[in-house]
Formats: sequence, C-alpha cells, structure tokens
Amino acid sequence: MTAALKIEGLEKTYDNGFVALQGIDLTVEPGDFFALLGPNGAGKSTTIGIISSLVAKSAGKVCVHGVDIDRNFPLAKTHLGIVPQEFNFNVFEKVEDILTNQAGYYGIPRIEALRRTEHFLDRLGLTEKRDTRARMLSGGMKRRLMIARALIHSPKLLILDEPTAGVDIEMRRSMYDFLREINASGTTIILTTHYLEEAEALCRNMAIINHGKIVTNRSIKDLLRDLHKEVFLLDCAGQLSSELTVPGFDLEVLDDHTVQVAIEKGQNLAEVFAALHEKQVSVVSMRNEANRLEQMFVNLLEQTA
Ligand code: ADP
Repeated sequence: MTAALKIEGLEKTYDNGFVALQGIDLTVEPGDFFALLGPNGAGKSTTIGIISSLVAKSAGKVCVHGVDIDRNFPLAKTHLGIVPQEFNFNVFEKVEDILTNQAGYYGIPRIEALRRTEHFLDRLGLTEKRDTRARMLSGGMKRRLMIARALIHSPKLLILDEPTAGVDIEMRRSMYDFLREINASGTTIILTTHYLEEAEALCRNMAIINHGKIVTNRSIKDLLRDLHKEVFLLDCAGQLSSELTVPGFDLEVLDDHTVQVAIEKGQNLAEVFAALHEKQVSVVSMRNEANRLEQMFVNLLEQTA
C-alpha cells in the first residue's frame, strides 16, 4: 500500500547556518492517527513547513500518497490538508466566505462548496459565526476555522501543527472527538504536539523528534509499556556490591546503600525483596520514584540528546 506520507533523508539548514533537521525518515500509513512528538525547537514545524512547501528543504524527499512534492506539488496538495500554527486566513473575510473561497481554489463547484461549508460550520460549531469577520473570532474559533478550511477539499491526509495550543480544555475535548471521527471515517491524521498526553489520547503511532532527529518511532502502546515502568528506590542496610543483580529485573545500584529497580507491568516487587534477602541484603525503606509519563519522556529525550 502506498504510504500516506513518506519522508526520506530530510535535512534542513536555515540561512543562518542553523541545522534544524539532520536527516529524517518517516513513514505514515493510510488511515493512521500519528503523532510527531517533541519539545519546542525540535523541528516539527520545519518538517510541516517543508511538506507544505513553505520551507525549502536542504536535502531529502517527501512523498504524499506516492506523489513527490518536488515533481508535482499541485497534485500532492490535493491530498493534503494542513493546519499550521499561525492563523493565515484573511482576517477581514467572513468565516463562511473563507471556506467557500477555499473550496473554489480547489475547483469544487459552487453548490458542493456551499454544502461542504455548511457541513463544516456545523461540525466545528461555527454556524453562528458564519457572517462574522475572521478577526472577530476567539482564538479557539480561529483554530477551528483553520481546521475546517484545511478539510474543505476532502484531503486524504490532514496535518495539524500543535492544534490545541491555546485551546481551553472543554474545546480541546470536542476537537479530539472531531478528529477521532474524521480519522474513523478514513482521513489519515498527523499532528505535532509537545504533550505526551495528547499523543496518548488520540494517536496509534508516534515518532519522537528531538534536535532535528527522530529518536524513536513506534506504536504508542509499545512506548507506553516502557513508560509505565514503575521505579522504586530501595534503601538497604550494610554496604551494597556494585555487582548486585536480580535476574529478570531491571536493577541498578546507585550508591553503597541504594538500589533502583524498575518494575514492569506483571512483575512483582516481592520477588526482588526475596532475591535480595537471599543475598543477605535487607531493605530498610523504599521510595517510589516520581515516574510520571512526562518525566520519562524528558529522560528519553535527554538520553538521546
Ligand atoms: P518545533 O516546531 O519543533 O518547535 P521548529 O521547526 O519551529 O521546531 O524549529 C526548529 C529549530 O529551527 C529551532 O531551533 C528554531 O529556532 C529554528 N528555526 C526555525 N525557523 C528558523 C529560521 N527561519 N531561521 C533560523 N532558524 C530557524
């Protein structure tokens, strides 16, 4: 099957010499809900800028549904809906006109354009604002207008750059529902985010990007399994050998009297105690290391920085 998005060896060095992308490979399959996750400055917007041909790449190849953007960007564009971070509609235009005009750019007949406009105004809760000039909308409404505009030509692939930046929790939920719904009806979605929770709530697969490099690329389920390891610090009596191990467990001697153990789902801490007891190591006290997903995520990024 042709990938919805295939990126190979993508590099970007900005004019000032800054290397924003150091050779990115990424494949997103049709129908996927994919997160490109990374901290600020990782290179997410640069990647999206290149896909939408707003940023010139330094090297590499980008194909959208098999269409190389260097060879036929107009065709690639028909498959693509992009929601950049910055609002880039004409703020003096009316909401409704922004949508119908966009449909017009894609050659959609007027009657169909009006039908689609109606549909997206309704789905994104903008019907009441149809006659309002875009500059009068709240930030959340502007974001929804951007999404509606990106979808008006029924693209196969929707890419959203930080769609929930500055969006309140209530609105975030309804946006999530909407995105899940259009994904379920067949639209491939890629979103960038710096919140692991957001990727977790919505996506099936994700790539983590840091300093312009893909750090990891796999299913969220797999990643979460690793992230859900619980870390305990055991304070032990006497002096510990740095060679101490317990087969089957991820154990690390931190200093003379502290052992760190990472417990996966299904593993039992009592087995560690028993094994330590056999080795004449007695545990005096135990602390649960702060092991929030975010913390692990930060660690992952630090490890690979
Ligand atoms: P993200 O979207 O992950 O926050 P960006 O792609 O916006 O990251 O930025 C990646 C890096 O490239 C950042 O360090 C940023 O400062 C730098 N950068 C972005 N645009 C430019 C530019 N026009 N000139 C020079 N450096 C830039």
